[in-house]
Amino acid sequence: MKVVVLTGAGISAESGIPTFRGKDGLWKKHDPMKLATPEAFGKNPKLVWEWYDWRRQLIAKAKPNEAHLLLADLEKKIGDFWVVTQNVDGLHQRAGSKKVIELHGNIWKVRCTSCGVEDYDYRAPLPEIPPKCESCGGLLRPGVVWFGESLPIDALQKAFALSQEADIFLVIGTSAQVYPAAELPFIAKNSGAKLIEINPEETPVTPYADISVRKTASEGLKEIIPELL
Ligand code: NAD
Ligand code: ZN
Repeated sequence: MKVVVLTGAGISAESGIPTFRGKDGLWKKHDPMKLATPEAFGKNPKLVWEWYDWRRQLIAKAKPNEAHLLLADLEKKIGDFWVVTQNVDGLHQRAGSKKVIELHGNIWKVRCTSCGVEDYDYRAPLPEIPPKCESCGGLLRPGVVWFGESLPIDALQKAFALSQEADIFLVIGTSAQVYPAAELPFIAKNSGAKLIEINPEETPVTPYADISVRKTASEGLKEIIPELL
């Protein structure tokens, strides 16, 4: 049996990491949705980096929560168990999940806008903002996918394939508004998977879900684990 889990910012909410669309998703007076764009970075790289530096510090202090740990444990029990995440915080891997597809990159990655070199930098706070490339002195950008940008093709192809092959497709903590990730539950459902959703609020996935649990990620997971084993 193949189980595929699509996670969004909501699964990390219980670790204290704000979602974008939630009511706690505020930073200073700026709208995260307007900072996570190539246009915002082009106009004001320092402001965008200040926001990422703040998020990196939050994530460095955060710990995987019960939901991340339950998923890591399910991978051990089920084997053919995959996490496709829109999150950039790396908490699934820190919880012990191995089969993780990152659709939107990783907040600890940096990429040079001049020479293209990519690396991980785990310093938080960063010593200099905006950070510069060590090889060429160019401006570095966060190694994440912004609104309006395309997703890494390998991760996307793998996510589409997994969605088609899934026997059970679980959607946790995503508002299902960001495409193409939001398409995956529908691909899975149309390919015959049983679709299960966990989210305290209704989403566009809700009407198509075979089971929909209006609870937080950890509470909801504890409820539906018997369906998976
Ligand atoms: P979103 O902010 O659009 O939606 C969050 C969803 O989580 C909402 O539907 C909300 O009802 C639900 N939620 C809130 N608390 C929850 C809880 N305790 N348990 C379960 N669900 C809960 O997030 P999204 O759909 O992931 O899309 C936003 C984009 O923002 C993504 O591309 C992602 O890369 C990025 N993002 C990532 C992080 C992170 O890495 N932790 C945080 C914020 C945003
Ligand atoms: Zn460079």
